[in-house]
Amino acid sequence: MPASDVMRHGEQVLTVCNACRYCEQYCPVFPAMERRLVFSPGDLAYLANLCHNCGECLYACQYAPPHPFGINVPRTLAEIRAQSYEDACWPPSAGAMFRRHTVPATLALVLGLTVVMLAIAWWFGAGAWPSTSGGDFYAVLPHHVLVTVFGVVSALAAMALAGGAVRFWRRIDRPRAGVWRWPAVMRALKDALTLRHLHGGGIDCVTAEETRSPWRRRWHHCTAYGFLLCFASTTVAAIYHLGFGWRAPYAYTSLPVVLGTVGGIGLIVGPVGLFAFRRTRDKALGDPAQQGLDTSFIALLFLTSVTGLLLLVLRDRAAMGVLLAVHLGSVAALFLTIPYGKFVHGIYRTVALVKDALEASAGHR
Ligand code: SF4
Ligand code: SF4
Repeated sequence: MPASDVMRHGEQVLTVCNACRYCEQYCPVFPAMERRLVFSPGDLAYLANLCHNCGECLYACQYAPPHPFGINVPRTLAEIRAQSYEDACWPPSAGAMFRRHTVPATLALVLGLTVVMLAIAWWFGAGAWPSTSGGDFYAVLPHHVLVTVFGVVSALAAMALAGGAVRFWRRIDRPRAGVWRWPAVMRALKDALTLRHLHGGGIDCVTAEETRSPWRRRWHHCTAYGFLLCFASTTVAAIYHLGFGWRAPYAYTSLPVVLGTVGGIGLIVGPVGLFAFRRTRDKALGDPAQQGLDTSFIALLFLTSVTGLLLLVLRDRAAMGVLLAVHLGSVAALFLTIPYGKFVHGIYRTVALVKDALEASAGHR
């Protein structure tokens, strides 16, 4: 659907909801909607990212299909959300990338970057590809090369994510939410970290009419906290290396390895659970056009964590060099696509929750 049609349809649906207001107790979307009489594209982007797609309001709606009004708030907001990712993207010219995600394209990118890693390893450390390296990754890829390559990739990703978040905030903060109130901001961050609104109306996410399940929330938690633990593992390892001069490989009981192992398991369990859950959930709740966006991100997280754990288990074997290249190829693909893929939904949803908490605490109308 063209962007203007998505927005026009969203405006019509929310205008009906604003007159009806039957669902106002379910989530913050409805009270935030009621603070408005008209809906600008920024308002629609804000409300769409406030929605956690719990599904509650579809089955409660007396105007849902097959009613002639055909009101389907979860799907309508999912469509607007996808459009908001493109509109806020930085640099703006990269917005179209959100529509190009497929699993085969993701696997091709990982393969291409693996070849690049093998080439870098051959160039800088070809002589050090022993049949067994004692788990020393830096014998395959020197530490300064790894730091340079991933420093550049991470800096680009962080810059693009920060640029997107700022553009998104500017887009949705009309009217201004008012003065910055820290208690409200902290409440919003807590809601984001606990995925509070995946509880829907208070019980749990809806998977189909009269069917609720806590598993969508649980798989999201495994994925999000798995990612954060892996990030913490890399950070601790960097502190060990740069601050104390303690070189990898680290013992299986060391902090970086324990954090990475627990995080890696979370990053396998979560994405697999989300993938399986998507297949059983009522298709009416989602936007079929986002299938590639969702599954390619799930596949990338899965590949990154599986190769990371395999690398840990087989680090003393001859396969370590190739495994390291595949793992680093997966990590590079993840970081390069993060600002233009499904990852942004966590950031924009948090920004929308902060805006909502500020608006609500100011008694905004
Ligand atoms: S989703 Fe349906 S029932 Fe709920 S507020 Fe909108 S129109 Fe009313
Ligand atoms: S799907 Fe859930 S979170 Fe989204 S608007 Fe409906 S009730 Fe709110």
